[in-house]
Parts: sequence; structure tokens; C-alpha cells
Amino acid sequence: MDRRKFIYSSVAAVAAAGLASCAPRPSEHKPGTSGRMVMRFYPYELQLAHRFTVASYSRSSTPDVQVEIEYDGVTGYGEASMPPYLGHSVESVCGFLSKVDLGMFESPFLLEDIMEYLDTLSDGDAPAKAAVDMALHDLVGKLLGAPLWKIWGYNPSKAGATSFTIGIDSPETVRQKTLECAEKYRILKVKVGLDSDEMMIKTIRSVTDLPLAVDANQGWKDKYKALDEIYFLKEHGVVLVEQPFAKENIDDAAWLTERSPLPVIADEAVQRLSDIPRIRGAYSGINIKLMKCTGLLEARKMIACARADGLKVMLGCMTETSCACTAIAQLSPAADFCDIDGNLLITNDLFKGMVVSDGLMQLPSGPGLGLVRL
Ligand code: MG
Repeated sequence: MDRRKFIYSSVAAVAAAGLASCAPRPSEHKPGTSGRMVMRFYPYELQLAHRFTVASYSRSSTPDVQVEIEYDGVTGYGEASMPPYLGHSVESVCGFLSKVDLGMFESPFLLEDIMEYLDTLSDGDAPAKAAVDMALHDLVGKLLGAPLWKIWGYNPSKAGATSFTIGIDSPETVRQKTLECAEKYRILKVKVGLDSDEMMIKTIRSVTDLPLAVDANQGWKDKYKALDEIYFLKEHGVVLVEQPFAKENIDDAAWLTERSPLPVIADEAVQRLSDIPRIRGAYSGINIKLMKCTGLLEARKMIACARADGLKVMLGCMTETSCACTAIAQLSPAADFCDIDGNLLITNDLFKGMVVSDGLMQLPSGPGLGLVRL
């Protein structure tokens, strides 16, 4: 469909649904004439190829808001994805974006000032802030004529492998999904945290010997059972464990990390840069996601902070289009583990960007995020 028509029709659909506040904000600044930034945004429901189940929820689609920022005739793309368990919604994201006035900033190069300003508007709203950050980074790269990984000095051949996630399901479905993806990926991520953990691992192991990462999504309750399970997982080729206990349970995480033969990575327990000192000593590493941390600017600071603390760095994503997945993938040469498969789980992607070939991420060579609008 023609892109302009698509945006128009999306906005019309929103207005018809009673979400008029989500419509693009009128602006008196004309791109290409004033040199000021103009932002547009519209909701976009991401359709999942398979129903997705983790320890605490199950769903078949994910709400999302697409953002475009235009500056001197150049468009930067960004995205806010809102898995329901994080408490954000299309309404909250659009409500936040409606408050944002980029007209007071001279150019998208003022990233530090703009992101500081966004934090003065609210304490939360990380996905909405990430969408703005992403679009600004895309603009900066496009205006400089270089991909972000190049601007930051990363070697794209070190982008490495991404894991592909297998959600909690029946043994038949898990077996089928594993068969489908074992040939395409070099590492799989397995959702655990329910009573079916052993079944999940044994079913996958009946199909493939690929290394596995597991994510308990805060589902484990008992630290002694958790340690036993980690030894079982290590024997079955698991290489890391993500978020074993409830995010507030720092003491048990520290107890487990001290004894675990596998790295224990904090996901839900770490949202932003300021959370890292709080989990010091309790985990072996952190999982950085743009929708948690407000975007690439803060993600890069978190990588530096994690390294200074001797922590491993994992990069993750939500269910997202290739826009946000390609954005976080720009940082992949600086990470130990990547779990950037959100775009591979949906059937209605809007972009072509980072692609996975033989299990390895290939970063696009185009400027900014390097996206091609489909
Ligand atoms: Mg996780």
C-alpha cells in the first residue's frame, strides 16, 4: 500500500476507534523550510506468527506505535512496542508523544538535550521515549551519511549470532517449532519458569544439540530448586539463565549467582542505567532492551557501566518490527549475547533491516538504522 495512504488510513482508523489523541499533532513548522523537526505517530498492531506463552502470560498480538520524525526533508523511524505486562498501552504512548515538543530543539544532533527533556515530562514511558530516541538516531546517521555502527566504531562482522525464542507450549508444538528453527539458528532461547521446564528442555534436546539459553521470566520461587535446575540445565547444554526470580528478590539472585555454574542475567530487574548499581553483585550480567531503557543513547551508557562493573552484556527486544530490532542490533558487536528475534516472530513487518543469515546477524550498510520501508 502507498505509504502516505497507509499513515492516513491508520490515523483515520484510530480516530474512528475513539483514540483521537493518537492522531499526528498539527505543526506549524514545515519540514525543509524551517529546519525544525516534525514528529508523526500512529498505532500499529503487531500480529504474531504463533501464540506466545511465557511464565506469566500468553498472547497472539502486541500493540505498537510507529514514530516518524522529519527534519529538512529526511525521515527518521522509531517504534514503541508495548507487551501488556509492562503496563504501557497505545493510549499511554500516544498521550506521552502528544506532549513532546521537538520544535524547541535546533536539530536531531542534540540527542543528550532532547532525551534529558523527555525525562522531565514523565518518570516512565520508556517505550515512547525509545521511539523518539530511535528516530533521532536514524536521522543523525542519515544526515551524516553513515550507519550507526560505523559512527560508533563497531566492527559489523562481530554482530554475531542471535538466539531464537521458543515459548512454553505442548511437547508436540515445542518439538515442531524446534525442528523448524534448529537449521536456521546457532543458539535457541527457551522460556521456562513453569512446572514444564524439564519437559521443554528434554523435548528440544530430542531434536537438536544447539546451545540453549533459558529465561525463567521471574518464574522460579525456590533458590535451592533453582540451583538444582541450573545444574540439570548445564548438563543439557544450556549456556545462560535469565531472570530466575521476581525482580525485587535481589538476595536470592545474589545467592544463586554466587553458586551457579552458568551466568545469571538480569532482565526484568534492570530497566535503566540507574538500576545497575542496585543489582551489583547479584547477577553476572544484564539484558538491555530499548523499550525498557528509553533508547540507544541510554543503552550505550548501560553497556559502558556494565563493563566497568565486570558484567556480561546481553541485548534483547520485545515483539517489534525490524525498526527497533535493527536499532538494538547496531550495538551487537559490543555484546556477549544477543536475543534479537522480535521481528522474526511477527507476520506484518514494516521494514527490512538487520537480517539473520545462517544464524548470524547481518547489519545493514545504509545510513542511520539502515532501514528500507516495505
Ligand atoms: Mg527475558
